[in-house]
Order: sequence, then structure tokens, then C-alpha cells
Amino acid sequence: MNETKKRSRFKVLPTGDPKTAFQRMTAQEILAAYGPPQRLLGSSKKAQKCERVRVLNQVLYLTPGVFCPAATDGCLRGCLGHTSGTMQLPSSTLARDRRAALYLEDQDLFLTMLQVELHQLARFAEWRELIPAARLNGTGDIPWERLHPELLAKFENVQFFDYTKLTRRMRDYLQGSTGNREWPQNYHLTFSADEKNRDEAERLLALGANVAVVFWPELPQRWWGYAVIDGEQHDARFLDPDGVVVGLKAKGIARVDLSGFVVRTCPRCQSKAPELTLISIAEDSHRKTVHQCTACGFELRSRWILPHALKQPAGNFPRIGSPNRDAA
Ligand code: SF4
Repeated sequence: MNETKKRSRFKVLPTGDPKTAFQRMTAQEILAAYGPPQRLLGSSKKAQKCERVRVLNQVLYLTPGVFCPAATDGCLRGCLGHTSGTMQLPSSTLARDRRAALYLEDQDLFLTMLQVELHQLARFAEWRELIPAARLNGTGDIPWERLHPELLAKFENVQFFDYTKLTRRMRDYLQGSTGNREWPQNYHLTFSADEKNRDEAERLLALGANVAVVFWPELPQRWWGYAVIDGEQHDARFLDPDGVVVGLKAKGIARVDLSGFVVRTCPRCQSKAPELTLISIAEDSHRKTVHQCTACGFELRSRWILPHALKQPAGNFPRIGSPNRDAA
């Protein structure tokens, strides 16, 4: 029998993950070498914090950047999807790659697996008396409301939520329409600010959107005139009040970001101060930055190992059968 697999229409976009197999292999080659993933949905410390607010949250992590049409240089390099905690491990990188390759190469199998796991999530949450919630764009910006509305409709008791950098998606969400149908009731979006979309982020805030901004080292109390809530407490963004800035803290190499993706505010002056200004940078195996507050003179010194110093030799991935290969 000649079976035709349904391939995604997505073009593979550049990724900032220095360890991903997509740097040297196609999706087809990744699947042939490593096989399909064992699981699609995973967790993280941040996702687990959702239990504080009675939410059972699972996240789909794909290769960061590959499904992010609005990614910037800054966010590709500093993306938490490959720079934070266990997300940097080769086993986590390979797990993300295998999921992304499956979505690209065999969408029917991918969606079947996803439905099984969403069903398990809903049942497990019910048993634990928690709200089931899924973040399908843990490291992507796929318009699920347009490409897979039937999935969101089928799991109407699951709360879906995501961050997006796509202005059109965010405006559709605010207007409650995807263009040809109503926006799914169970899908919440938060706009994600970066070094290039700040003007748009401010316009969206004025329309009542929530906007996530990455700060370092402290979260200010207000930003662009709006209250900042602590987005590190948990990740259940659909519980946030409307029209706020969701403050996230830079992690990993994002702490020495130079693109403007990370906003540095003065911990002494808080929201009254302008952003810190970069006054010096040095690089060897690490990047060392010094930023200064123009109001009080406070100097912020940061240091982080550079990706080339961490880079794994090609092929240094766990072998099939490794117990940790689906860790992320
Ligand atoms: S758009 Fe978001 S998920 Fe994609 S690379 Fe940038 S920070 Fe990561």
C-alpha cells in the first residue's frame, strides 16, 4: 500500500539553538536517524509552579525558532527554549528536534499522539481536581487557531494558552475572531515584546492586551505606564488580569543579551529610572557586560558562558534507547 504522509506546509526557519540537529540535518533525516518522539507534551519547573494556582500545565517544546516567523536575532539567541536549565541538555535538544521533525513530516501521526496526550492530561487533571492547561507553543508560534481549530474544539475542557510575537494573531485574539470563525473560547494569548516590536506592544497594551517583557535583574513595578505583574510566580497566563505587563526574568545567556530583547532596569531606582545603558563588553569563552544607570550611576555586571564554548561535537546526541531522550 502506498501511504502518503501529510507534511506540514511550514518552511523550516532559522534556529538560534547551537546544538540542534536542524543545523545540519533535514526533518526527514532526523526522523530516519533518531525516530519519532516518545512523547510530545512535557513539563518544566515553571509549568509545575502552575499547581500553586490549581492548574495542571503541560507544554509542547519544539525546536526553538523553526516555527517562529517573527523571531528576532535577540530572541533566537536568548530563547529560554534552549538556554535555560535542562533545556540546554543534548537529550532535551534531541527530544525537541524529533517532535519538530514529526510535525513537519507526518502531521497525522503528530496530531494523533497529541490528542492521546491531551486526553490523558484532561483525565489526570480531573482526578487531581486541577484545571487542565496546555501550552502548545512552548517554543514556537504556530497559529493553532487557524491550522488546527478542530483540536482546540475537541478539547473544550482544556485551557490552551500561549505567548505570541505575531501581531496579527494578537489582534485577532483581541477581536475574538480568526478571520473566518470565532476565536476559540479556550485559547488565551499574551503578546511577547522584543527589541523590534516595542511600539506595537504599547499599542496592544492600550487595546487591553497583556504583554510579556523580559527584564534583568529586577522586575520594575510599572513599565510603559502599565502595572507589571510577576510572571515568574507561575505560567498560567490565562489567570492574569487584562492590560498588564507580564514581567519575566532573563535566564542563561539572555542575561548578557546585547540586542535589546532583555530590558535592564535599575534595581535602585526601580520604575523611575531609564533603562540601563551598556558601557562595556568583553568576550573570551564568556561574555562580560557592564550596564550603568544614567540616573544614579549604579553598575550592573553580568557574565555568561558563550554557546561556542558549550558546543557539542556533531553527533554527540544520546543513542536511541537512552532513558533520558525525551526529557524536555
Ligand atoms: S519567538 Fe519565542 S519561542 Fe521563538 S525563538 Fe523567539 S523567544 Fe524563542
